[in-house]
Amino acid sequence: MTSPVSPASLRGRLLLPGGSLVSGTLHFGADITALEEGPETGGPLIVPGFVDTHVHGGGGGDTMDGAEGVRTLARMHARHGTTTLLPTTMTNPWERVLAALRGVRELMDAGGVPGGADIPGAHLEGPFISPQRLGAQPPCTLTPTPERVQELLALNVIRAVTLAPEIEEATDAALAFAGAGVRVGIGHTAADAETVAALLQAVHVAGGRTAGTHLFNAMGGIQGREPGVVGALLTDPHAFAEVILDGFHLHRLSFLLARAAAPDRVMLITDAMRAAGQGDGESELGGQPVTVSGGRATLASGSLAGSVLTMDMALKNAVAAGVPLAEASRMLSLAPARSLGLSDRGELRVGLRADVVVLDEELKVRQVYVGGRSVAL
Ligand SMILES: [Zn+2]
Repeated sequence: MTSPVSPASLRGRLLLPGGSLVSGTLHFGADITALEEGPETGGPLIVPGFVDTHVHGGGGGDTMDGAEGVRTLARMHARHGTTTLLPTTMTNPWERVLAALRGVRELMDAGGVPGGADIPGAHLEGPFISPQRLGAQPPCTLTPTPERVQELLALNVIRAVTLAPEIEEATDAALAFAGAGVRVGIGHTAADAETVAALLQAVHVAGGRTAGTHLFNAMGGIQGREPGVVGALLTDPHAFAEVILDGFHLHRLSFLLARAAAPDRVMLITDAMRAAGQGDGESELGGQPVTVSGGRATLASGSLAGSVLTMDMALKNAVAAGVPLAEASRMLSLAPARSLGLSDRGELRVGLRADVVVLDEELKVRQVYVGGRSVAL
């Protein structure tokens, strides 16, 4: 059993809902209990904890390793300000995917990861994707038959799924996932804009939540006569869009284009793999060798593997791209929380979870609290 959370307070410049930065004191136990304004003393920046809806690994651990790998990655990313994350599976043989998901469920049932980010569920990235748009996913794609979808939903652990809308049985599968409260992500797809728009519409009509999985990556680009997956996602009024802002996966202007089109729906993710937080060297992703050099992770083929990004770095990159801090913070906290239907986090507001990050002037993480508990940095 875990001990109760003792009351604590933090003084500094609080990033309030709505985006204003106000000197004051944040009081909290497991939840935020009060926001007290003044006096005007400056101090560190106090922002909502980061929510990463797409992360495979970090610190040497990977979701595909099972519970121990998830423990490792949840602790490593918490040290970089991530207070909520979805451990993300790779497209792998069916039994391996199921085993990884059972590992996540096991951890959640045991009360989560002490000293790590909160885990409200897993992200299933494939195997229901296009063989033409694998990216760094191994070629183990499958059709989302009703039997497979039911087998997955019976595990009661999936909170987000990535699928390609053009594959056989995709629409029925998307509706089944949405009906179970799972965010339906469009990704690793060769679909045209109309096919994507139709699937998004079907999910919304059914009351479900949608997203684009690492916008621009593994989905082709945007053209005047062919708006493609990106065009369909950005013009949809409800779909959120994941972006890997690591300086390698997309051009700064592509990020700013997404932000201009969907200012409240862009969310930053890491898509980080095992090697994140480990420096340059040799690593592994979904059973494939990976080389990390200068922070860029590639497969033997030379194609980009996942990233070694952390959420604090994503925040810095967004600000360096010209996005004001308050807006960048929304992309890291409120937007991803909303995309998952998590209404108990994402802002510094009384009654919400005390998921809090303290940053210095250089946006370096100084303190992290997950549900009011301090994370050892
Ligand atoms: Zn991924």
